Parts: sequence; structure tokens; C-alpha cells
Amino acid sequence: MENFIIVLFLVLFAIEFFIEFVLNELNLRYVRARWAEKKIPDCFQGKIAAQEYERSVEYTLARGSYGRWAEIYGRIVTLLVLFSGLLGGLDRTAKGLAQQYSLGPYGQGIIFCLAVALIFAVASLPTSIYSTFHLEAKFGFNKMTAGLYVLDKLKALVLGLVIGVPFLFIVLWLMDTMGPYWWIWVFGFILAFQLLMIVIFPTFIAPWFNKFEPLPEGELRDRILALAKQLGFRTSGIYTMDGSKRSAHSNAYFTGLGRSKRIVLFDTLLEQMTIDQGLAVLAHEMGHYKMKHIVRMLLVQTVVLLIGLYLLSLLLDYAPVFSAFGLERSNHAALVLFSLLSGPATFYLAPLMNFLSRKHEYEADHFAAVTLRDGKAMEEALVNLTIKNLSNLTPHPWYSAYHYSHPTPVERIGAIRSCPV
Ligand SMILES: [Zn+2]
Repeated sequence: MENFIIVLFLVLFAIEFFIEFVLNELNLRYVRARWAEKKIPDCFQGKIAAQEYERSVEYTLARGSYGRWAEIYGRIVTLLVLFSGLLGGLDRTAKGLAQQYSLGPYGQGIIFCLAVALIFAVASLPTSIYSTFHLEAKFGFNKMTAGLYVLDKLKALVLGLVIGVPFLFIVLWLMDTMGPYWWIWVFGFILAFQLLMIVIFPTFIAPWFNKFEPLPEGELRDRILALAKQLGFRTSGIYTMDGSKRSAHSNAYFTGLGRSKRIVLFDTLLEQMTIDQGLAVLAHEMGHYKMKHIVRMLLVQTVVLLIGLYLLSLLLDYAPVFSAFGLERSNHAALVLFSLLSGPATFYLAPLMNFLSRKHEYEADHFAAVTLRDGKAMEEALVNLTIKNLSNLTPHPWYSAYHYSHPTPVERIGAIRSCPV
């Protein structure tokens, strides 16, 4: 049985890798071929200089070939962790430590889960450092110093411990004491935990990494407030965030719940956009709220979580899976194995979620165009963001269908132009 499980896993793992790899290669070829024709997509004609298009092609190609090697490296790390006997060794060490320091019934499980998480975090450092300090730096995006990078990682580590230890303790306790329907209890706990995170993230966690300041009084602020009022959008404030200390990529987002929702604008966005364009971006974001996209996405994720936990409960009862990967059967081993083995399943979910997300993006663009009674500002904002972020103008259709959470800029502009406002 163990051999069958291993072969099945390896086959699924190989298929997943193959699809990922081929899509990336197709995309790279497609971008190169379009570039060789020297033809800028119609809706960007006259809006983007040949030089800017060339730079976006270079950036896409550089990210794609980096992605190829990062993918291979990541796969090797996963295989090593699963098949080198490392997991069994870690579990025994965790057991020894928990006994030695009398860490209570869940000490072993918590140490084991954190150790596995730490291994993956450390293993991702080389690719992350290369991406930040070579690739992003080469195209002028990286603004992070080595000191800030180290500080970020340390803060993330502290946060992981402060939040991760109690989280794991409660999950392991529920699994242990709640009988056969423990997975429903864990489901309820995770929902409550997510809600808590949504509430504490903007006020306690995010300010630890970035500085937030109320958007200064002025035309932009007045017009955002007027727009929010017009749409019946309640907010506790509009803030700017010093995103520029890490990257020149720009963004805007909303956090929090209900009345305590905050609007956060990256300082990079304010620098790069006109007031009309910035307002269009915000109208788009408010559209997501107004049309309940965020709630809908959360609901889908909640259903996926429930199904996942049910599958985890089945896995827990199936002893050969543990022995196949050199582990003794336990709740904490089930958690780790499940997260490592569920890749092939979540991999096929991603394109479905992306499909739904792209549908929402079209709707939010349409909402912005209708609200502002003109699609022009939204279109200009998109062109501007595409140029500044060196986005790929010509992704392979299969690649974008699979990986893109947003329609391509060309698709979005096409849709905005065809929508009656
Ligand atoms: Zn959006």
C-alpha cells in the first residue's frame, strides 16, 4: 500500500510540475514571438512607447526564466523533505524535546509543525533574495535594503511564533478532544480566527511593517470622500502607506470590516497617478465591495476549507499514508502531510478561483466606468499601471487563463471600451 501511495503521489506531482513548466515555456515563447513582430497591441497604440513595451518584454522574460528555475528548485525541496527521512527524524527530535522540557501534550506537535514551516521558509530564502535583490533591482523595482529585508524576516518569524503557537495548540487540542467530528470544530475555530485577523491586521499587524498616515486634506481626499458618500460606502479613514520603502510597484487596498474599513493607498500609487486615475482605481475597489465580491470569494474559500478539513479527517484514519512518508500516525503529522500532499488538488482549484476573480474584475471595471460616467479615467489608470509595473501586454492565452487573477490589460481595456456608460 505504501508503494502505491508513493507512486500515486509522484505521478500527480509530476503532472502538476509538467503543466506548470509547459505553461511557463509557452508564455515565454509567445511573448518573444509577439515582440519579434514589433506590434504593440491595438489598445496600447499611441499610449505606450516602443521602449516601454520592450522593457516590459524584458521584464516578463526575466521573470519567466527565473520562475522556471525557482519552480524546479521548489519541487526538489519538497521531494527532499518528503523522501529523505527528514520528517520522521524531526518528529522524533520534537518528541525528545517535548519530553525533556515537559512541554505538555501538544508540545511535540507544535515543535514539529513549526520546524517544518521553518525549513520551507529557510529553503525559500535563496530564490526570494535573488528575486528581490537581483531581478527586481535590475528593473528598478526593488527599494529594499538588506537591513530591512532581514528585519522583515525576523518580524515575520516573531509573528509566526506569537500567532502560530496558540493557533496550533487550539487546533491540536480540538482534534484530540472533540471526537469524530473534530473537523467541524476546527472549521469553526479557523473561521473565528480569520475574523479576528481581519479585525487586528490593520491596527496591530500592518503598522509593524509600514507607516500609515491619514491622507492629507486636498482635492484627492475630498473627491474620495464624496465618491464614498455617493456610493454609501462607509469607511473609518483613508490612509497612505509607505510602500516605496520596499518596492516601486504600486497598489491600493481596503482592509477591515464594516464601518472600520480602511482605504489604503500606496505612496507609489499617489506619485504615479493623476487624481482622476486614482479616483477610478478607488471606484473599482469600492465596486468589489458594493457587488459583494469579497464576501463571495470568502464563501467559496470557506467551502473549500470545510471540504479540506473533512478530507484531512479521512487521511487521519488512513495509517499507510503516514508510514509511506516515514512518520508515525498522529494529529500533527496529519496536518503537515496534508498541507504537503494537497498541492495537486489545490493546483487544479487555482484556475477556477482565477476565473471567478477575473469575472469580478470585469464587473468592478464596469462599475467604475458607470459610477464615474466615463470609462476614460479607468482606462488611463490601467494603461498607466501597466506601463509603470512593466506588466506583460501579450501573455499566452492558456497561461493567463490559468494563472491570472485579473484579465490582461488588453482584455480589460477592450471590455471598458465596449461597456455603455
Ligand atoms: Zn479589482
